[in-house]
Amino acid sequence: MGKNNQTVLKKVNDQLVDLSAPEPPGARVESLSIHAPEVFHALNHSGAHLLAQAVTELFDDVQYGIGPAVEKGFYYDFLTPRPFTPEDLGQIKKRMKHIVKQNIRIERQIWSRDEAIRYFQEQRQDLKVELIREKVESDTLSVYRQAGFVDLCKGPHVPSTGYLKNFDIMSVAASYWKGDEASHSMQRIYGIVFPTAEGLTEHMRILKEAQKRDHRKLGTQLDLFSIQEDIGSGLVIWHPKGSIIRHEIEKFWKERHIRNGYDFIYSPHIAKHDLWKQSGHAEFYSDFMYNPIDLDNLEYQLKPMNCPFHIMAYKTGNRSYRDLPLRWAELGTVYRYERSGVLHGLLRVRGFTQDDAHIFCTPQQLEEEIQALLDFSVSLLEVFGFSSFEIFVSTRPEKYVGEIDDWELATRSLVNALENRELEYRMDEGEGVFYGPKIDIKIRDSIKRSWQLTTIQIDFNLPRRFGLKYIDPSGDCRQPIMIHRALLGSIERFIGILIENYAGFFPLWLAPVQTIVLPIADRNMTYAEKVNRRLREHLIRTRLDVRSEGLGKKIRDAEIEKIPYIIIIGDEEEKKQSISYRIHQQGDRGSVDIDQFITGVKSLIKNKDLKYEL
Ligand code: ZN
Repeated sequence: MGKNNQTVLKKVNDQLVDLSAPEPPGARVESLSIHAPEVFHALNHSGAHLLAQAVTELFDDVQYGIGPAVEKGFYYDFLTPRPFTPEDLGQIKKRMKHIVKQNIRIERQIWSRDEAIRYFQEQRQDLKVELIREKVESDTLSVYRQAGFVDLCKGPHVPSTGYLKNFDIMSVAASYWKGDEASHSMQRIYGIVFPTAEGLTEHMRILKEAQKRDHRKLGTQLDLFSIQEDIGSGLVIWHPKGSIIRHEIEKFWKERHIRNGYDFIYSPHIAKHDLWKQSGHAEFYSDFMYNPIDLDNLEYQLKPMNCPFHIMAYKTGNRSYRDLPLRWAELGTVYRYERSGVLHGLLRVRGFTQDDAHIFCTPQQLEEEIQALLDFSVSLLEVFGFSSFEIFVSTRPEKYVGEIDDWELATRSLVNALENRELEYRMDEGEGVFYGPKIDIKIRDSIKRSWQLTTIQIDFNLPRRFGLKYIDPSGDCRQPIMIHRALLGSIERFIGILIENYAGFFPLWLAPVQTIVLPIADRNMTYAEKVNRRLREHLIRTRLDVRSEGLGKKIRDAEIEKIPYIIIIGDEEEKKQSISYRIHQQGDRGSVDIDQFITGVKSLIKNKDLKYEL
């Protein structure tokens, strides 16, 4: 850590030291870096209180419900007589700034349960009364008070509102009280607090940059895909240009899977409902599943997962330890119900294609398989230019299936694999899914946003439900371990992320149109056609601009389409039998021999290079 950083750290921590006083564990932050999640959490939780104080001061008849710190800041849910307007948000922000300036002390107090109920009743905060009655079993509880504002809270918080000056509130959206659609409709305001002004500035820059790169906007502008109400929410049609990107990614994905010892599976889009009963999805996953379809008086189910099909394929043979591991991959399109409010372009859809695979192995093979998966994931993602990873290991939750010994072995295998690869990771204790521990890998994109892509999940549940077996070396029947994994997540979401990551300007191998040929005058058309044909013969995706527009207009249009190479053909080029070209956003590169150009472009495509310079 550099000297400057240490100074900042000390300054911020000096400010935060106070909050450790008589408070619960976790409140001591003086030894933490300003980037520690605990510091961010305390600031943002205090930000939520700041927001609620401002709202209750400004508006009568408003109830404040639940307001947690979350991964990307904080929110607070309010029950209001009418939705908040953008003008309201402006006013709220102004009031929050005012409260910050007043530097009001944030005080922790212990109240009796009855006292708290009485207080919130008097304040006509029925939602808080409901929360106390439901959630508080002890006789006392902790509240935090700042001026006239009181909130139920475990803490920790910062010592006073002056610590919250690097805040912003971003947006308001509808939500439901306790997430229950049958309950009150709430107004959720999102905000964020940073420990430093630089943090906030950087965050605002990213938001603005993200808006410019919005994949929904670029998807239309570049004619990649559409999602149309007349077809259905959350259902994607890939247009020819988007299909090229998708095809290239899938081709690459398949090649890499062959190299990594996988076989491929294709499975149907529907299956008898009974299959989903056996897998347990009909019971535990039904919220995300569509209603069954009736066929020949039998119920069929649109698939939300690919796993049961791979399992049924496994079951068709007698498997011995010698056959394992089996690595079966499928670009499997699944359909899951998502509420219309959460659908978002390609990032959240109702029909999507998982880059799925299931690995069936013995316990002894587990660690090696995990290591191979980590290598596979990292090497695959690096091709797209992602080189910064955050890795999380989630362990056994309170409710789980399987034996403790198996869980321990599996968790140890995950951790050992990470240690062997010298990859940094964080443990999320108790955050695993009920059927097994898992590794999640997040990448950082070009504007430093993080996205979870790879997930590697061990499953003790499905092999048991389906009675999967293999014969071990001593001839006994054993249950194989099953690993579910997706490296890119889903193809739809991944391409949405790529569009924003590259701001629509794709690496050459993915660019829907790689070169465009622009004749300067009509008399250059014949030679331009010849150049275009030559490029196409070498499988370069090329187009000839035959419009009788001026050269300036043609170049501008090609730039808007974000075509990597713009080839210009005039009398000079024709005479020398050469071409001149420009690189998108990088300008003129002058004249070059056509064969030399083709060789250069082909080599960049072949190597999946992220650069365009020949
Ligand atoms: Zn699966």
